[in-house]
Amino acid sequence: MRTWLKNKLSGKKPPATALKISVIPRDKHDISRRRISNAALSVIKRLHGANFDAYLVGGGVRDLQLGGSPKDFDVATNATPEQVHSLFKGSRIVGRRFRIVHVRHGREIIEVTTFRGSHDQDKLGKNQSKQSDTGMLLRDNVYGSIEEDALRRDFTVNALYYNPENRSIYDFTGGLDDLRAGTLKLIGDPETRYREDPVRMLRAARFAAKLRFNIDSATESPISQLANLLEDVSSARLFDEMLKLFQSGYGERTFLQLRRLGLYKHLFSQTEWALCHSSASEFYHAMIVQALQNTDKRIESGKSVTPAFIMAAMLWPPLQESMAKLKQHESDQDAYQKACQQVINGQLTQISIPKRFTITVREIWDLQFRLPNYNGKRAERTAAHPRFRAAYDFLLLRESAGEDTAGLGAWWTDYQQQHPIPETSQEREYNRDDDFKPRKRNHRRRNRNNV
Ligand code: ATP
Ligand code: MG
Repeated sequence: MRTWLKNKLSGKKPPATALKISVIPRDKHDISRRRISNAALSVIKRLHGANFDAYLVGGGVRDLQLGGSPKDFDVATNATPEQVHSLFKGSRIVGRRFRIVHVRHGREIIEVTTFRGSHDQDKLGKNQSKQSDTGMLLRDNVYGSIEEDALRRDFTVNALYYNPENRSIYDFTGGLDDLRAGTLKLIGDPETRYREDPVRMLRAARFAAKLRFNIDSATESPISQLANLLEDVSSARLFDEMLKLFQSGYGERTFLQLRRLGLYKHLFSQTEWALCHSSASEFYHAMIVQALQNTDKRIESGKSVTPAFIMAAMLWPPLQESMAKLKQHESDQDAYQKACQQVINGQLTQISIPKRFTITVREIWDLQFRLPNYNGKRAERTAAHPRFRAAYDFLLLRESAGEDTAGLGAWWTDYQQQHPIPETSQEREYNRDDDFKPRKRNHRRRNRNNV
């Protein structure tokens, strides 16, 4: 442990240049070691055993202090990725922009990051630090001390360090006060921090929604000016980010925050246009909110969810708008086919949605046009479609948002009562792709890596 930190613990004054650090002993905070995963504890113990510093950090500390259950635990250490890798058999160094180590422990993967340092040294090599013209960090592999690391994190409430050995929390940025006040505050100069990584603006919306926190005014005010920087973020990273925004169990609130902050249009510009300019904008808004509420409820009750369903709902407004225009000159069928292509291709310029999901979006939409034709054998054939269940849910969604389908939903509800479709086979199809399951963060790539 660094000397000044030791001094602080022993009551000696830290040097004048050091950050103001608060050390919060066990009896002054709410984190109980029993609620931390054994995997994280054992990784920290092993690092300590090899004479490295190691702390629990980030969302794990934040959520434990708030009384919630973290979905994963991250560890920060002064060991380099190579040193961590050599300590843990079966670990992997991942990422280029932001190198970290995945340490496998039983079924869990603990993400171990090396303390990040500041970027303002000229002598740094390209593999360590690289910045774009707009200030975006293309490499963030400069290592430093724990206090530098704290300053490299995004929000003060995400920069709390917990040492399971002495059970103290280390707070360099006033995060604990902000946590208690319910304030989301970016560390450092907000504009610089957003320029370095525009995804932090999305994270502000997400954490404000998740934690029901207020965003500090200095943190919030540059967002409207800088929101367009999201266009420089890779569409693949935005897809990963989108899953976190809408599939973490608080999608409805996140959607409202994103719109309020003027960020949504940089993710779904066609939808934003329809929400602002169409005569059906109220219906569209209600439908998206309802889709997200349904998703949030499914997640709460442990059911699987699919990004395709959310995408189908979010892109339904531009699909309708585009179809209405095309129908003036084309047959209904042609207008639908062309509108599908236009809308999906338009969306792919912003967020790179894997093909397996765009195919499902199309299937859900196609079925909306088949559901009204249920005469003769058609109902049976439609009900046998692998995406019938999702399409039926989508129909109910349209109805609950206020669309008059002349009782079509009720007809299909009756039909299913009379011709029960084995739940398991439908659910299996609903969940055909593994990614339909709520993502466990431990099993996905870390988003900071793949700008
Ligand atoms: P949750 O896991 O609930 O989504 P989290 O705070 O743990 O929230 P992660 O994405 O898991 O978020 O990141 C872990 C920690 O890494 C964060 O708490 C933060 O300290 C830091 N971090 C993550 N992304 C960024 C970023 N873009 N810029 C700066 N720090 C970041
Ligand atoms: Mg986390």
